[in-house]
Amino acid sequence: MLLDQYNIIKLRTAADEDCKTSILVIYTGGTIGMDYDENGSLVPFDFEVLLEKVPELTRFKFWLTMLVPFEPIDSSNMGTEHWLSMAWLIEELYDEFDGFVILHGTDTMAYSASAMSFLLQKLAKPVILTGAQIPISAHRTDARENLIGALEIASMQESRQQKIIIEDGSEVIKEQNVALVPEVCIYFDNLLLRGNRSKKVQTLNFTAFESQNYPHLAEAGIFINYTKSAILPIPRGNLDFKSAMDDNVILWKIHPSMNPKYYLPMLENENLKGVVLESFGSGNIPTEKWIIDVLEKITKRGVIVVNVSQCAGGYVLQGHYETSHALTQIGIISGNDLTSESALTKLMYLFGNYDNRTEKEKIIELLQTPLCGEMTLF
Ligand code: ASP
Repeated sequence: MLLDQYNIIKLRTAADEDCKTSILVIYTGGTIGMDYDENGSLVPFDFEVLLEKVPELTRFKFWLTMLVPFEPIDSSNMGTEHWLSMAWLIEELYDEFDGFVILHGTDTMAYSASAMSFLLQKLAKPVILTGAQIPISAHRTDARENLIGALEIASMQESRQQKIIIEDGSEVIKEQNVALVPEVCIYFDNLLLRGNRSKKVQTLNFTAFESQNYPHLAEAGIFINYTKSAILPIPRGNLDFKSAMDDNVILWKIHPSMNPKYYLPMLENENLKGVVLESFGSGNIPTEKWIIDVLEKITKRGVIVVNVSQCAGGYVLQGHYETSHALTQIGIISGNDLTSESALTKLMYLFGNYDNRTEKEKIIELLQTPLCGEMTLF
C-alpha cells in the first residue's frame, strides 16, 4: 500500500493559522469503515463523508489528514507486506506529522501493532491503532469514541527538558514539546495498551483488547489518565525504520494428543527458520519422545524455537515442571511473557534483518532482549 494507492483527504477542523500540530489518519479497512447498503450488507464506507458521521472532528484544534486506500482490506488478510507498507508510510511522512492513527480491523490488530513496533524502532511519536466492533455508520457504533480518543492521544504533547545534539556534536539541554506516548499502541474502549503487549480477547463486547502482562498506558474517563511510569521514554537518535520481514516462521500450538503424522512434515520443512511454540501454562509440553526429538533435531539444524504460553497472563518458566525441563537442555529459548503475536512478528522482523546462518547468536540475543517494551526480563 504505497502513497499512490490512497486518496488523500484533508479534513476541516478548528485548527487556526498558528497551529503547528498535525495528525495523520491511515485507514486500512475492517469493521470501523463499513456501512450498510440497501440490502443490509456491510460495504466499505465513503470516508469523504466522515465529518457527517463524526462531526466532533471539526472541533479538534489540530490539522487532520486522512489516507484512504482505494482497496480497504479485512484485517484477516494482513501480513508482512502490509505491515511493511504501513511502517514505510509512517517513515516517509514522519517529519510532516506529530502523531499517527491507524484505523484497522480488530481481528489481527494485535499482530499489526506488534509488527509495527519492531519495524519502527526509536519511535518518538505516537502510532495509535484503533478500530470498532460496530461500523462507524451504525447508531450504536463504538467507532466514534475510539477514533476521537485515539486522535486526542496521538496529539498529546508535553513540554520537557530534552538533551539535543547540535551541529558541532555537543549536547545542550532545551525545553521542547515531546509526544506523551512515543509508542505503537492500541486504543480501544477507553483503554490505551502497549501494542506489542495486546491481545484481542472479545468478539462481542466493546472491550475487545487487553494487555494482561503489562499495565494500561492510559484509561479514558472524564479525563484521560496516563500511567507515565509505564510509557516508554523518548528515544535518543532518529527513527530507525526496518524495511524487511521474513515469514519462514510458524506458530505451533501444543494440545493434548498430538499426532506426529501431521506435524512432522511441517516442522521438518527445510525452509523453516523459526517456531513460536505455544505451550501449556508456564511453558510445558507433553513429554512424548517424538516431540522432544523433532525439536532437538530442528534446533540442531539452526531453527530458532521460542517458547510462549497459551495463557493470556503470566510467563514461561522453563524447568519449573519436568514437562519443560528438557526444553532448556535442547536449546529452546524462553519467551518469558511475550505474547504469541509479539513472538511471531519479532521472529519475522529478526529473520528479515539478520542472517540466520551467520548471525544466529545475534538473533537469539535480540530475541531475549526487550527491544520496544515487548517483554519483561525476570
Ligand atoms: N474482520 C474484521 C477485521 O478484522 C473485524 C473487525 O474489524 O472488527 O477486519
